[in-house]
Amino acid sequence: MAEFAKQVSAQASRDSAWESRLLAFKDLKLLRRCMQCGTCSGSCGVAPLADYTPRMIVNLVARGDIEAALKSKMIFLCTNCLACTTRCPKGIPVADLMMKLRNMSIQAHLASAEDDASSREFVRTLLKRGRIYEPELMIRFAMKTSPLSLLGMRGQAISLFQKGKIGLPSKSGTDLSDLKKKFKEVG
Ligand code: SF4
Ligand code: SF4
Repeated sequence: MAEFAKQVSAQASRDSAWESRLLAFKDLKLLRRCMQCGTCSGSCGVAPLADYTPRMIVNLVARGDIEAALKSKMIFLCTNCLACTTRCPKGIPVADLMMKLRNMSIQAHLASAEDDASSREFVRTLLKRGRIYEPELMIRFAMKTSPLSLLGMRGQAISLFQKGKIGLPSKSGTDLSDLKKKFKEVG
């Protein structure tokens, strides 16, 4: 019983720590207006692959179970397509919430090694070129998670290149200061 009380108290203090960090998310109060209509989930192409749908993530955060949201697959599957945000009848910025939770999850070391590597390498590639160059992203991701898998990818990469499905990297030299500033703003 004492052990259970200790666990509940530890969970409560973790949740309040998460909540205070999430308060930096300017629309936290807006989440409590969610009427659980499910429009966001119905609009989301990746929700069927996830453990929690966008509607459930909003609900978890609104009722304070932030740790469950931070451990969810959904926040890493989100492609930030903005369909949920555009269609929400309550004007809730669901896509922004996903990004904020993803950043918090990585900073708190709650993300799996693959999710952590894919997110970090995605941002690194973007900040280097201003756009995603898929072959570079795949190589960076494989180097972080399973370098030997690169051997198996060689044939596929050559075949895709020959079919014109992947091209050469874009020229560098683009001014990315605005993009870097934006990334700093969202943590
Ligand atoms: S669409 Fe908006 S109101 Fe409806 S469940 Fe999603 S977040 Fe809530
Ligand atoms: S922004 Fe993310 S959560 Fe929203 S619909 Fe697109 S993939 Fe789904």
